[in-house]
Amino acid sequence: MLIAVNTAFAVKIKHADHGEFYRVVIQTDKPVNFEEIPFLDAKTFVLSIDTTSKKINKKLLKRKYIKSLDIIYSGDSTKFVFEVSNKVKGYKIFTLKKPYRIVIDFLKTEKPQPEQKISLHDDPIYNLIVQYELKQKKTPVDAPAEKKIIVIDPGHGGRDPGAIAYGLKEKDVNLKIARKLKKILEKDPRFKVYLTRNSDRFVSLYSRTVFAVKKKADLFISIHCNASPTRTESGTYIYTLNLRGARSKLARLVEQRENKAVIDYVRVSTNPYVNRIVADLAISTTMTEGRNFARYLRKYLKHITDFKDIDSANFAVLKTPGIPSVLIEVLYLTDPVDIQLLKSEKFIENFSYSVYNAVVDYFFQE
Ligand SMILES: [Zn+2]
Repeated sequence: MLIAVNTAFAVKIKHADHGEFYRVVIQTDKPVNFEEIPFLDAKTFVLSIDTTSKKINKKLLKRKYIKSLDIIYSGDSTKFVFEVSNKVKGYKIFTLKKPYRIVIDFLKTEKPQPEQKISLHDDPIYNLIVQYELKQKKTPVDAPAEKKIIVIDPGHGGRDPGAIAYGLKEKDVNLKIARKLKKILEKDPRFKVYLTRNSDRFVSLYSRTVFAVKKKADLFISIHCNASPTRTESGTYIYTLNLRGARSKLARLVEQRENKAVIDYVRVSTNPYVNRIVADLAISTTMTEGRNFARYLRKYLKHITDFKDIDSANFAVLKTPGIPSVLIEVLYLTDPVDIQLLKSEKFIENFSYSVYNAVVDYFFQE
């Protein structure tokens, strides 16, 4: 018997064995967006869909292939945390229409593999540390000048708007500033610039870090705008990484807000060893060089904005080993004076030129 139930958020799980692969289908009665969040151990991934349903029956799945499936209902999304068994060597995800389906094909291993240990060499952060150490040992003589690679990170995006005030969303302002800054930096042939996102999409903090690592960035600049619930704060702050945690009460508040996504979605690394060496070693460059760059920024920014302070806190997005990293909170969206500046093309241009000058000084001033 088939009963048509017209509930807005019905989500059903189905499965079928197709010989070479085991198929799991998540069926919904309307189109949904999904995001796949891989984990470093390759046996776990998270599928996040932007709809909620409280009654998903997952019991029928074959434990031979799916070791565990946790379903997390959070806010306006549902997260499926899949852990596959050693009888699965990979998976692919795609969508189908009529009815709307997200299909996950789990490819079976020919013969069951012994449980594999996490390989450190598969970890992009670990690889960066190795490269970083090699670079420290080499002293290039007469090497041709390579372009400095700068990764600009417009904070938030997609379902994460950041702060909202006076009809402006932080994610939109961040992207506008980042694009302008990229344009100005790239007029100078000495720089190559990448954005961690160039549209209104959600990017996890961990992916932003890995992106900078993969691009072999020489500098990482995360762009944000501040918000004060009491609307009493204004001005521009620069934050650098401090693994011991926030240095001031205000830094702690900013840290909590900006790290929120990381607590929800990602870990810095699944590998405790990686976490430890990241903390011990390359991160010290990120911190000391980040502070060094922050001082150049202050020199220029204080002329064009109400510059408050250089502070430090434990920002997940700044854990870019070996890469000098700063997070700029460009003014306050919640301040009536600051917001006028954030809406002004001229201010964004002045801000971008100031950052450009600081970047030039940081890399090329003797
Ligand atoms: Zn932010």
